[in-house]
Amino acid sequence: MWSAGLGVFEGFAIENGLIVATGPAALELPGEVIDLAGGFLIPGFIDGHAHPIFAGREARGPKVKNLQSVDEIKSEVARYAEENPNESWIIGGAYEAAIVSGGDFDARWLDEVVSDRPVVLHAVDHHTIWVNSKSLEIAGINSNTPNPDGGTIARREDGSPKGTLREPISFDLILKHAPADSVESDLEAIKYACNELISAGVTTATECWVEPPMAEAYIAAAKSGALTIDMHLAFLVTPQNWQEQVAYIQELRAQISKLPEPNRLKANTIKFLTDGALSSGTAAMLDPYLDDPTSTGLKIWDDANLIAALGAYDLLNFQLHIHAIGDGAINQSLNAIEEVVKTNPNWDRRSVIVHAQLIAPTDLARFKELDIIANFQPLWSYLDPMNKELIEPRIGSERNNRQYQLRTLLDLETKISFGSDWPVTSHKPLDALFIPVLRKIPGAPGEAWNIHEVISLEESLTSYTANAAYQLFGERDLGKLESGMRANFVVLDNNPFETYEVEIKSVWIDGIEIKVN
Ligand SMILES: [Zn+2]
Repeated sequence: MWSAGLGVFEGFAIENGLIVATGPAALELPGEVIDLAGGFLIPGFIDGHAHPIFAGREARGPKVKNLQSVDEIKSEVARYAEENPNESWIIGGAYEAAIVSGGDFDARWLDEVVSDRPVVLHAVDHHTIWVNSKSLEIAGINSNTPNPDGGTIARREDGSPKGTLREPISFDLILKHAPADSVESDLEAIKYACNELISAGVTTATECWVEPPMAEAYIAAAKSGALTIDMHLAFLVTPQNWQEQVAYIQELRAQISKLPEPNRLKANTIKFLTDGALSSGTAAMLDPYLDDPTSTGLKIWDDANLIAALGAYDLLNFQLHIHAIGDGAINQSLNAIEEVVKTNPNWDRRSVIVHAQLIAPTDLARFKELDIIANFQPLWSYLDPMNKELIEPRIGSERNNRQYQLRTLLDLETKISFGSDWPVTSHKPLDALFIPVLRKIPGAPGEAWNIHEVISLEESLTSYTANAAYQLFGERDLGKLESGMRANFVVLDNNPFETYEVEIKSVWIDGIEIKVN
């Protein structure tokens, strides 16, 4: 057995859902003894950045994930359309944008399989959608439609919309016409997500983009017992709506804090999106993109408005969870947090910058100085097709190769936590755990990517357990196997310090083995 950051011990004792003793002392206590038959035990994984409801919604639609050609995607959409003749909109995801050079997919390709009703597919980066012509028609998007502020519409040479749209404000032009998600349908998504997460060994997770009716669905799930893991909600606010959202968010936080114990739901965080993604050319950069020297990407907030919004929610003791990918967005976020720290009363704020992919050299030390947690997606820290085919041509190799400076940040004593960003990528921590340790997929051919940025397996595991617990203000009872902690743990079949071939044997929450069907 092993415990993140604490070394190896054999045997531990559980009483009333808590760990009461570890090591030899535990073996002396009376009670039932469970033999793990050589299993290796680690704390339950804690996912510090994920979108479980989006994953559940996506799982209902056509299954285009991991398909390797436009033809394969078309046949899956055709199959789904035929099997679901009464569905008025076909919405699904998430397709691999790197299979088409530049990532601009054409509406006409989808028209060949479905032309009578709208089709909307999300790309894996979740900053891009590909739609058919019916969707464009319903939304009234044509050659004369300007790009919305904070989004883009890909065009053909004649100026007509091609069928690929980038950033949520653009999706909204189309999706506002689709049937709205309901508490009932999102409740189903939550059940699906909880089962998937538990099977992957995740015992606490986050929902990092909460809009109505998602919080309401979580409240319903908590009341009915359908919420089987701990969940932390982060409400999304935008430059346009952050002021009017204050009352709604405070009301929901209050409702959630009053749910009967044991209450698995918390809602103390606000999500801010400051840019898009490098793969779609929408991450905000300090210097221009190479493939479009007129562009430095998308800066979603202006500086003053961002400072005002962060400051207002910080003053209400909400934790700030800021999506920033490009060095421009990260710089803007650091500057804004610096202002908030200077102006607002001091408190244990634990602000988070999530993704933190490309940090300007002069900004690296500021994470520690401003006591900001960098939440990384460990599965992204190797030279995958997205980094190689989509990102490198846009930003060049020097900037591409400076992504994910985990070692540098840890050496600067930065607090690092992990999250999956599911359904952007796999929710399974075991798919991701070894990637920042090797900077490649275990056992795969090819070179490690920037080997000097590797971290140890212990650091990787700690980022997905104890450090993520700290991010969620849960370090007193989560993320470690210590006396007094909640008995949330995962039994692996092998020791991950000896082999990459590790699978989950069982998952325990509050001392009870959770069976997933
Ligand atoms: Zn995300």
